[in-house]
Formats: sequence, structure tokens, C-alpha cells
Amino acid sequence: MTNKTKYLFFTGGVVSSVGKGVTAAALGLLLKERGFKVAVQKLDPYINVDPGTMSPYQHGEVYVLDDGAETDLDLGHYERFIDIRLSKVSNFTTGQVYAEIISKERRGDYLGGTIQVIPHITNEIKRRIGLAAKETKAEIMMLEVGGTVGDIESQPFLEALRQLRNEVGRENCLFIHVTWLPVIGATNELKTKPTQHSVAALRSIGISPNIIIARADQDIEKSLCEKIALFCDVEKDAVIPMKTADVLYDVPLMLEKLGVGDLVVDKLKVKATRKPNMRPWKKLVDEVRKPKPSVKVALVGKYVELQDAYMSVREALKHAALANSVEVDISWIHSADLEKDKGWDIIKQTDAILVPGGFGSRGVEGKILASRYARENKIPYLGLCLGMQVMCIDFARGVLDLEDANSSEFDRASEHPVIDLMHDQRSITDLGGTMRLGLYPCLLTKNSKAGLAYGVPRVDERHRHRFEFNNDYRQKFEEAGMIFSGLSPDGRLVEIVELKDHPYMVASQFHPEFLSRPMNPHPLFVGLVKAAKEKGKK
Ligand code: GLN
Repeated sequence: MTNKTKYLFFTGGVVSSVGKGVTAAALGLLLKERGFKVAVQKLDPYINVDPGTMSPYQHGEVYVLDDGAETDLDLGHYERFIDIRLSKVSNFTTGQVYAEIISKERRGDYLGGTIQVIPHITNEIKRRIGLAAKETKAEIMMLEVGGTVGDIESQPFLEALRQLRNEVGRENCLFIHVTWLPVIGATNELKTKPTQHSVAALRSIGISPNIIIARADQDIEKSLCEKIALFCDVEKDAVIPMKTADVLYDVPLMLEKLGVGDLVVDKLKVKATRKPNMRPWKKLVDEVRKPKPSVKVALVGKYVELQDAYMSVREALKHAALANSVEVDISWIHSADLEKDKGWDIIKQTDAILVPGGFGSRGVEGKILASRYARENKIPYLGLCLGMQVMCIDFARGVLDLEDANSSEFDRASEHPVIDLMHDQRSITDLGGTMRLGLYPCLLTKNSKAGLAYGVPRVDERHRHRFEFNNDYRQKFEEAGMIFSGLSPDGRLVEIVELKDHPYMVASQFHPEFLSRPMNPHPLFVGLVKAAKEKGKK
């Protein structure tokens, strides 16, 4: 483990979803702005090897990295705030740690030893942290432990961090504990007791936090911070009152204003090489807050009850709206509702339709209907992965009269599998980590909508799929007005499709949402919102 690296450990207290990931990501930006090379790592205590096999209802979106790692959605926050590209070392789970140790044990590597949580599991956790520090050559490594202090699952992780602190030196580590202050309705009073208890739990395993970020939905008085400082044995200026932001991208500005950037630099005893320039962020947030005309986008998905399942899609829409000086008003429509004649009033009023990715047959016919409506009524449409596949299915059924057209994912017996299993997927039986994952190149057709939107001949985009457009149908589709405006360099894989006589009906087999950044919105989303704005004007 390198001694030059400094470590920032983030733990969560009281409740989950307290905003630990966003806080860490925002602080990462403040450190990067001070000239430090920062890296991040999310340690997830669940036993799944990765979130790829988990339902979005359980876990929210699966965020895909360049190298194809299927990771926690917090990695999306990190990439968007810090504007970095992460790799698979930036996320690991209990499942990965145990899988490694058990395979070593089966190989006989432990020569008769008894395998235990301490030291074997904790050593493996530390090894992975060291690996990330080495690979990223980070000056400051930020580690976020998933879950809440007190959970049984997170204990080995916390123990590993406690050990690590002694190995790399206490002066090189900071523990930041993010907690929640609940309100008692009758007196409208913020309470610190749960924070005190969660810090006590942390201290009982040998960790005293250096900084406490106390989160609440309302203003937090100074006296309350002083109370937390007293009861939790933390310096007064190290208790940070952090009210919920009305604009997500205001979080870095709020933290900066509260002096957290300087506090961390001070406590880590490192020297910033430059002053943070937060002006671009300030401008961005001011822009977000400005009243603007709004465009309506109907997002037709199947996990719409849990918007976290479409986190990056929602953020990418917001980025694109900003670039078009409009507000985006998203209606979340359950695709299965459309099958039952519900939700059409919203579709009929919308300026654009977006069909995101998805798996399994539930609600897929509703998505096909949404795509049909966009095609027939010339409503701007963006399809992402499954959203591209349903656009092709509708086109085959509605334009080419191939009534039975489908994806072999949903109907194995279809006579016209216009979307079919990719050739190299046929022999795969395991579900975890076996899709076509990560960055692949795509060549764009000049003067197509996609080509014009990107303004470059070649792009690299992130993928996560098993099925693809069936080339047996390419010619028929083309003759009927579908343009294959993005293809793999060998021409064999369809990456982007679009309609000829339509204001904007574009869909990609990849997931553009993962590469959209607040300051650098994704061209395909910008194109959609632009078309929606024009439609709105009419
Ligand atoms: N289920 C489809 C496939 O595997 C689409 C995947 C997705 O939308 N991410 O190809």
C-alpha cells in the first residue's frame, strides 16, 4: 500500500439513502478542483457478485463502466460530479470478496488453514483497496462503504478500514460519517439522538469519525451541531450541517460554502496546488434555477415506481434540457398501463417519448405501442437499448406488415425475430456478467440525425445487452425508410437506427445516458429535447 495515498472513508448512519454517495461525489469534485488526483471506490456489503443480477426494484439502476463492470448507481454520481471515467476496481462487493477467497481455498492455497473473516476476508478487502490505489495512482482515495453502520454485512468492511488506518498511518486517513437528523412532527424539532447512537456503534468497532455531515430536510442550527460535536467527540468545526439541496448540482457549492473542501485538505495535511474554480458550477446551478419554458417527456418504462431505476436517464434528460434552455417535465408511465388503455392521455399531450432499457416480457407490448404512437404521430422519440429493439419490432409489424415480428427474448417461436440473440450469446448459460458489456466503437452515417447530433464520424459508447438487430431484415427495413445510422466498425452490428421521414426518431443499442455529464450533455439526448422544444412551439 503506497504511503503517498491519503484515504477518505465515508460511512453512513441512521438510515440508508442519506445522500452519502452524492456527498462523497461532490467532495471529490472539490478536491479535484484543488488540483488533487482523486479516485473513488464503492464497497458494497451485499452478497451478489455485482448488481447486474439484481432487480432494479431492489437496487435501482445498474451503472455500466467503460470496461463493462456492472456497478452501483453511486458510481454514476461520481462520474457525473467529478467528471472522471471509472473502472472495475472502483466497486466491489462481499460476493466478490468471498468468491475470491473460496476459490483460493478450493485450490488449496491456504495449506490446511482455517479461513476466517479476520484475517482472510479483511485482508482481501484491503488488497482490493490497495489495488485501486495502485491502479489509479490516486493522491486521495475516497472509499464509500455501502449500507448503514450497525448492519451485520458491513462489519468486515469497517474492520478492514480500521486495520487499514493503522497500516497506512492515522495521519493519512479521515473518516467522514454522514447521518440523518429526523424531525419530530409535534414540536418540529430536529433530533440528534440517532446520530449519537450511530457514532457510538462506529466507536464500538474502533472507529471515531473525524467529520460528521449531518443531513436534514430543513435548516440545522449551530447549537445542534455543537451538541453533536459534544456527544460524538468530534471537533465543533467538523460537524457540517447539510440541508437537502433543491438542485442536485448545488451540493458541491453548498459543501464548498460550508468550508468542507478546506477542512478535509487541512485535516489530511495535504497542499492544494490551486484554488477551486466553482464558477462553472455556479453558472450551471443558476441556469437550473432560472424559470424556463418546459418540454414534456413521457418516459415509458417498467420500473417507473422507483425512479432510481432510471437515474442516469433522468440526469441525462436534465443535462440536455439545460443545453436547450428549457425545463424538462418527465411523466413516468408504466408501459403495462398502456396495454390496458391507461396513460394515453399523457402520451397524447407529450412533446417527446423516451423508452429506456429493460429486460423480460412484462410491459414490452406497451413499449411497442408507445413507439408506434411516436412513429405515426411524428412525436420525437429516443429509444435506449430495449427502446431501440421495440422501435424495430413496431416498424416490422406496422410498416413491413410482419405481424408476428418480435424479439426472440419475448417470443422464441416468432416467425420474424427482427431482434435476435447475439451469436456469441448462444452458448452462455450463466446470467451474471455475461452480456455484451462496456465500451464498443460505433461508426456514424454522415448527415444522418445521429451523425449530425454527434458531429464526429466515430463514437465509443457503453453497452449492456444480449440481443441485437437481426441482419436478415436489414435490407427490408432500409427499403421501407429505416436508416441504420450507427454500425460497429465491421458493419455487422446495428448500433443506431432512425426513421427517415420523422422529426426525430432515433434509438441506440447502447446506453448513451451513462456518458452524459452536466457540463457535457449527450448529443442524442440534446437532439431529443431540441426536437421536443420545436414540437412544443408548434
Ligand atoms: N433485454 C434486451 C437485451 O438483452 C435489452 C437490454 C437493455 O435494454 N439493457 O438485449
